[in-house]
Amino acid sequence: MDSCDKRVGELTATKSRYFWSNGPLGAEYTVNSYEREKLLLQTWNYSFLYNEIRDFGFKFVYNLLKLNAAWARIKNEENIAGCTFCSLSRTNPVEKENLQHFFNSCNTVNEISKTYFDKFMTGQGIEFDISFLMRGAPTSLTKSKIMILNIEIIIFCFLLYKYKYRKKLPRLINIEFYFSHCRFNMLKNSKYRRAWLGWGGEGGVGDDD
Ligand SMILES: [Zn+2]
Repeated sequence: MDSCDKRVGELTATKSRYFWSNGPLGAEYTVNSYEREKLLLQTWNYSFLYNEIRDFGFKFVYNLLKLNAAWARIKNEENIAGCTFCSLSRTNPVEKENLQHFFNSCNTVNEISKTYFDKFMTGQGIEFDISFLMRGAPTSLTKSKIMILNIEIIIFCFLLYKYKYRKKLPRLINIEFYFSHCRFNMLKNSKYRRAWLGWGGEGGVGDDD
């Protein structure tokens, strides 16, 4: 590994995300994770993503998003720390809404993620795992497929975060509608389009070749 890889591995944000998503994949942050993490960390920087998604993506990978538990600490109001989705779906007990709960443990997030990504990943030869949200696409995929899946993960998490702020439960039909709208724009970019066709998606007509 080069020194850049080493720096990636030493990021506190990375280590925290791996700790929080210590699910079925089990493994801690290892040398094998460097490549995976490097690819996830660059996802927010793609020029064909909307600015608000890029802004979100940056805060997401560096654990800078503030959820209810963080606001509760800042305002010193313990009663506002509960998870928005758990409250809305009347899940008991309502867990604290921190990054680990929201992007890994929350029932609502687990259910809708599995439904969306099981369909999205049909035919790719790998099973969706909730830890993908915090760790990014696994390196068993090709680089261009990792790019597609990481973009999908960042946009999906962006939408969950938006629903949370609107105090609404995420709805699959609206999420899919947003993706088709985003995809229409992203497909104008030749790099994205090539990767998307490699994924097996339907092509758009480019205007930047
Ligand atoms: Zn929850």
